[in-house]
Amino acid sequence: MRPYILTETNWDALRNENFELAILPWGATEAHNFHLPYSTDNIQADLIAAESARLAWDKGAKVIVLPTIPFGVNTGQRDIYLDININPSTQFAILSDIIEVLNHQKIYKLLIFNSHGGNDFKAIVRELGLKYPKMFICVSNWYQALDRMEYFDNSGDHAEEMETSLLLYLRPDLVLPIDKWGEGKEKKNKIKAFSEGWVWTERKWTQISEDTGIGNPKLATIDKGARYFHDVTIKISKLLCDLCEADIENMHE
Ligand SMILES: [Zn+2]
Repeated sequence: MRPYILTETNWDALRNENFELAILPWGATEAHNFHLPYSTDNIQADLIAAESARLAWDKGAKVIVLPTIPFGVNTGQRDIYLDININPSTQFAILSDIIEVLNHQKIYKLLIFNSHGGNDFKAIVRELGLKYPKMFICVSNWYQALDRMEYFDNSGDHAEEMETSLLLYLRPDLVLPIDKWGEGKEKKNKIKAFSEGWVWTERKWTQISEDTGIGNPKLATIDKGARYFHDVTIKISKLLCDLCEADIENMHE
């Protein structure tokens, strides 16, 4: 029983506990190229959050990891069989209810631990911040915590070398053999401004990738996944310690 994982701990342990920071991992249920499981984002969210919390807990940080929300925003993937979309307005409702509980129980710090590129919590956090002024709510994307090109040879953002390496390390039993791996070739928008990053539109997944992947996974290895997991959890654990220690009335210098 890990005392910092809510799904494992119990009322006996919790009735006299005072947590400083709640961590809410949030993933998605969606195709990841041909070879990775639909739960790829949830597995990464679960295991990276848990290991980061363990490292922080061992340093005395009072953190509690809430259960991972398994569905994310997949509005651009409605044509992909059993990609399960929940809308941003549903995410708002879920977050609003969870924050109401935390606020009432005086756990005033919340980290939304995001694992899926289609989830975008900024606007939601702004609005809920108005509603719950005592709460300090922040969002992290673990996949942006490190410079991925220091760990991996090929870029990409979906079922690519990084995610494939992580799954080979974390859940090798759920990764299909290499002859099943698609190339993850992304078709770019014909209008150049979109590639420059200053104009945005949602990517319609079936129009941009044959195998649902974005980024070639072929150079993925267990060792690359292990090294990245080690470094990213150390970095995130430092954030958790910093958030626990922070005085939310006095955050700036
Ligand atoms: Zn993913």
